[in-house]
Amino acid sequence: MPRSHHIADRMRLLDASGIRKVFDLAAQLENPINLSIGQPDFDVPDAAKAEAVAAIRRGFNKYTQTQGAADLREAIAAACAREFGWSDDRAYLVTCGVSGALVLAFLTLVDPGDEVILLDPYFVMYKHLVNLAGGTPVLVDTYGGFAPDPAAIESAITDRTRMLVVNSPCNPTGRVYSADELRAVADVAARHDLLVISDEIYEFFCYDEPFASMASLYDNTLLMRGFSKSYAMTGWRLGWCTGPAPVIEKMTMLQQYSFVCAPSMAQAAGAAAMTCDMSGHVAAYKRKRDMVYDALAEPFGLIRPGGAFYAFVPAPGGQATEFVTRAIANNVLIIPGNVFSEQDTHFRISYATTDEKLAEGLDVLVQLAS
Ligand code: PLP
Repeated sequence: MPRSHHIADRMRLLDASGIRKVFDLAAQLENPINLSIGQPDFDVPDAAKAEAVAAIRRGFNKYTQTQGAADLREAIAAACAREFGWSDDRAYLVTCGVSGALVLAFLTLVDPGDEVILLDPYFVMYKHLVNLAGGTPVLVDTYGGFAPDPAAIESAITDRTRMLVVNSPCNPTGRVYSADELRAVADVAARHDLLVISDEIYEFFCYDEPFASMASLYDNTLLMRGFSKSYAMTGWRLGWCTGPAPVIEKMTMLQQYSFVCAPSMAQAAGAAAMTCDMSGHVAAYKRKRDMVYDALAEPFGLIRPGGAFYAFVPAPGGQATEFVTRAIANNVLIIPGNVFSEQDTHFRISYATTDEKLAEGLDVLVQLAS
């Protein structure tokens, strides 16, 4: 290979082959029933759109402070004061989505050879970013009920373990961890003085029980939240992070030399979005969750997912890629479990689509199962 095309070794650790195969198959479809999309099908609230336009018009187009515009950080701090009772002097870092926070966190915290515990199935970015940082993802199986098993987590801890990542409500399973489940995980983390990254990007989408945050149970939590799912602002790249001050300080320094800041108009809009009531959309997604569960519980043995907008469904015969290929041949786009997991026994449905499309897609899946 010519020297000018040399690709750094670390890039070998990124592998997108699983999902690429699905997209290649999907590209052949004309008008698929797409149950693969990881973003809301509703739009950004009008107040946030108006504020983005107004911010651009009044010239709020320059770099903001690296840690984020003061107005947005104040809004986030006020929300956290209400939810967690935190004081004003806590540090917040506004990031380019939760993805941005994850990149900063893993690069800040993981040394080559360090281990990061992930719960399998996991949001796919975690594994790749840990690898990119030179770390080793250590996977703890949650198949069965997709609950975090404190004993299994504890037995995965070694001298090299740097942190544990939890994600509730979970992508891809839709599992919501109860306060008791989180407390049991926090006890393990506390015994081993482990940092916990809590990715709470789906915090709004909890259908059966109130949302519980790791941050209210365990001090050494690096809490990450975003605007992509809550306010449908996926393309605006906005999220935030808070946690132990020395960690936030270094992440902020790294942001200064990488992303610089989150997009200015998105930050203005984010503060406006936080005043919007999204409960109508959440209620609509709860109904869609019920549609999915009612259709798939019996034929597939689906356990009722409690949140996010995904169901992780056992594939017939435990052969997800084979089932997904058949679904795609029948015009329904879903994702095989091996994209999110070491095993390929389940498939992920996103129900972030219209009721009509969802009903059509569910009909096809049910027919394919029989
Ligand atoms: N974390 C989880 C669990 C996600 O599902 C996603 C997006 O799908 C992200 C983080 C990244 O979101 P953002 O758009 O805020 O970067």
